[in-house]
Order: sequence, then C-alpha cells, then structure tokens
Amino acid sequence: MKWLVGLLVVLAALAGVFWYGVLDAAAPGQAGDEFDLAAYRELVAADAPETLPTDVRVEFVGSDPAPSFATEAGAFGGEVMMTYTAFQIVGPNGNVVIDGAVDADTVAEMTDGSGQFCADCYQRLLDATAQAAHVLITHEDVDHVMSIARHPAPETIAPHLRLTRPQIDGLPQHARGGVLAPAIANVAPVDFTTPQRIAPGVVAHAAPGHTPGTIVIFVRTAAREYLLVGDIVWVMSSIENLRGRPRFITWLIPQVDPDRPAVLRQIRALHDMEEAEPDLVILPAHDDAYLRQRIAEGALAEGFATQ
Ligand SMILES: [Zn+2]
Repeated sequence: MKWLVGLLVVLAALAGVFWYGVLDAAAPGQAGDEFDLAAYRELVAADAPETLPTDVRVEFVGSDPAPSFATEAGAFGGEVMMTYTAFQIVGPNGNVVIDGAVDADTVAEMTDGSGQFCADCYQRLLDATAQAAHVLITHEDVDHVMSIARHPAPETIAPHLRLTRPQIDGLPQHARGGVLAPAIANVAPVDFTTPQRIAPGVVAHAAPGHTPGTIVIFVRTAAREYLLVGDIVWVMSSIENLRGRPRFITWLIPQVDPDRPAVLRQIRALHDMEEAEPDLVILPAHDDAYLRQRIAEGALAEGFATQ
C-alpha cells in the first residue's frame, strides 16, 4: 500500500500547486483607502460645465486572444480577446491622451506573429499624442507606452507629458536601442501620490501594485463619470468576481503585479465602488468585449479625433 500513499501524496501536492498557481487570487473581504472618489470629485467640482470634457474615445491599436484562465484566476470560459488600447479625453480647451499602446514590432514580438495590428489607428494615436494638451500613461508596461517611448517627434510631445518618476524610469527599456530620447528622459516628473487635477474634469491618482508607476484617471464629462484603471484588472469580470490574475502569470512574467496584495485590495475597492456607483464607467485597458459594449451604449466612442 506504500505506493498508494505515495501516489496520494503526489496528487495532493499537484492539486496544491494547481490551486496556488492557477486558482488562488481572491480579493480580500475589505478595501482600504485605495481610491478616493470623493476627493476626485472635489478636485473638479469648481470646473465650469462648458470647460468639461465632451467625449471619451478609445483607439483599438491591436489585439490578441488569450485563455480566460490566464486573465482571471479560475475563469475557464475559453478565450477572451485582449485588445491594446489608448484613450482620448476630448475637451473644449485641449485633449488628454492616456497610454501609448503598441507599435507593429511590439505586437509581432508579444504575440509571435499571431496578433492583429491597426497601422492607421497607431498613426492616429501618434498624431493625437503630438496634438494633446496633456499625455498620461496608466503604467509603464510595454503595451502602454510605445507612442511615447518611440514617438518620432519627442521634442513635440515632451512638454505635454505628465509622467511620474517610476513611469519615466520604466520607459528606456521600451525605447529603440534601449535609449530614451533626451527630451523625454529629462521631463520633470509629476507626483500623483495624492490625487491631482490635470485639466478640467480630469484627475490622476497613484495606485501602485500592478507596476510601481500604475495610476488611475478619473474623468468627469457633462454626461458621465469614468475611472480608467489600466491593468489593475485585465478583464472586467475580475472586478465582478473579486478575482485577480493567477500567480502563474507572475511566474511567467515577473514584472506583473510586484505588489500583488495591493492589486487584490484595489480589486475589492473597485468591486465595492461599482456596486455603490452604478453610473460610474470603469474602463480597463484590455477587455475588448467590455469596451465595445460601452461603445454600443454610447458611453465611449471608437477612434481618436485628430485636428
Ligand atoms: Zn497591458
């Protein structure tokens, strides 16, 4: 019977590894002070209605399907389409561009050639970045920075970049040859540790966890409020189901979620916020089906406006 005991021990160990690596990603029962919606609202409360943003737009620059259990622990529903996006907050006195997406080379490298890339969309993103009053990134990962780290006119965009120290420090590895254009490397960092108003109706707030430089961006238009959450979750169902990314993803990609407990607390906070504020539009960066649903509902518009 010794062999049977041995087999059971091995099976139990395998089940434990499977649970730990693939299934265990539950958000805690209570959030802390991860986000402060009241403070964001207060910062833009005095903005005159005619100065507020009129439109939130998204550019779908590329896409690649992923197994659902890799995007959200315990989700075995098949494949989900992961899209590579940037957002544009259109305002009467200038636009805010959020994120830099991917260029053609990045998509090819990240997806071994299987991913889709929209060259026209990326060109619109480059143009809109050059024309924006303010340019922000949700975080410093490879698929959120290319229209900044590899922009053909760094001197043009540099005065409009609103980047934190951890975000700037993360950029050189994504520049061609590993060297960031001096105009961008020398940008004075901003500090979003406490929420900061960027423009009428737009507030940024640091939310480290997924990366050291992760931030959230609150937007108030005349019609709605939004919270752009970058990659705190890869799919909206993570917030609904209170489940983060599986640990094996952080084993495969070590720069993902260096502060995993913080990410799980943020997921709890977003879950509670969604329940308390059903009209708030939460926008994760990669959930293709969810973003297209928001477009169909009229809360989001597809394609950037350029001058
Ligand atoms: Zn991403």
